[in-house]
Amino acid sequence: MATGIVYHPDYLKHDPGEGHPESPQRLEAIYKFLEEKDLLKHFTIIEPNLALLEAVEAVHTSEYRKMVEKVSQGYASLPDPETVISPDTYRVALLAAGGVLRAIDEVISGEVDNAFCLVRPPGHHALPGRAMGFCVFNNVAIGACYLREKYQLQRILIVDWDAHHGNGTQQIFYDDPGVLHFSIHQSDLFPEGSGWITEIGEGKGEGFNVNVPVPRGTGDSGYYYAFNQLLKPLAHQFHPEFILVSAGFDAYFRDPLSDLQVTSKGFRMMAELVKEMAENYAGGRVVAVLEGGYSIPDLPFLVATVLGVFAGLDLDLQPPEEQVRDVLLPVTRQRIDAAIKVQKNYWKL
Ligand SMILES: [Zn+2]
Repeated sequence: MATGIVYHPDYLKHDPGEGHPESPQRLEAIYKFLEEKDLLKHFTIIEPNLALLEAVEAVHTSEYRKMVEKVSQGYASLPDPETVISPDTYRVALLAAGGVLRAIDEVISGEVDNAFCLVRPPGHHALPGRAMGFCVFNNVAIGACYLREKYQLQRILIVDWDAHHGNGTQQIFYDDPGVLHFSIHQSDLFPEGSGWITEIGEGKGEGFNVNVPVPRGTGDSGYYYAFNQLLKPLAHQFHPEFILVSAGFDAYFRDPLSDLQVTSKGFRMMAELVKEMAENYAGGRVVAVLEGGYSIPDLPFLVATVLGVFAGLDLDLQPPEEQVRDVLLPVTRQRIDAAIKVQKNYWKL
């Protein structure tokens, strides 16, 4: 089993400034860990290209794309305060989206079986005409449109396990039955007022948007329950031809931005299930794309855990200290059951 890793040192050049949680150190720490533990030899490194503008503009407006370019040159400012644009951001954001497209090409051509894109800035909050929540271009959405336009795929599943709601991706495909978007996220986090179970898509896309807002303390068992009771039967019925993962690691119990109490076992379980679904329906084709994850000391281990699952390797990693009480709380179960109930209008669950 060959697993690709997309990485480029230029990804460190997007600099939101001192003290910003989405720092270059995140990616630096991951890559250094893979190097120092001598893990890179197990993977195929995929060199990213800049995304073609037409691929970016399949998702984003031309005005917005040009605005990011101008802001990077220092000629304008973005209305979104938490997404800082530095002089290299435009180019790095094109390289992030382009990295996802290269990974897709390599998986479709069979050069690798699956891939993980170690890219930044992240993407899942980015809207067609607006940066949001540290995100500039929506890397995963650009990938989904590319799969459709270049490879004529009809059914793409996006699994978003970042702690925050994938509101940008949701909006981009809200009326689109060709993209099944599944987002599990902490209910009281950014972005405020989005990610409810009742946001089910519209028009032809009704029933193809699935939100699972979960409470604080959900833990591995809550994720296990949601993935098995909801995502698995959805994937079975949707029968995706390709799976994209918005792989954030901010649901981790030590992450400073959330309180979801997920451990590395939870991420392993999610990666295993996604891989199993990809093998069952999509010829194994899955590309994961880094989104959030802000506990820098833990992020490398979590990414390596998912990489090990994707590659089918026991990487023999020393797990960090993880003492978390893991029980499926009644409130968590109720919330997930409520999401299932809504989706019963569209799927056999
Ligand atoms: Zn996040």
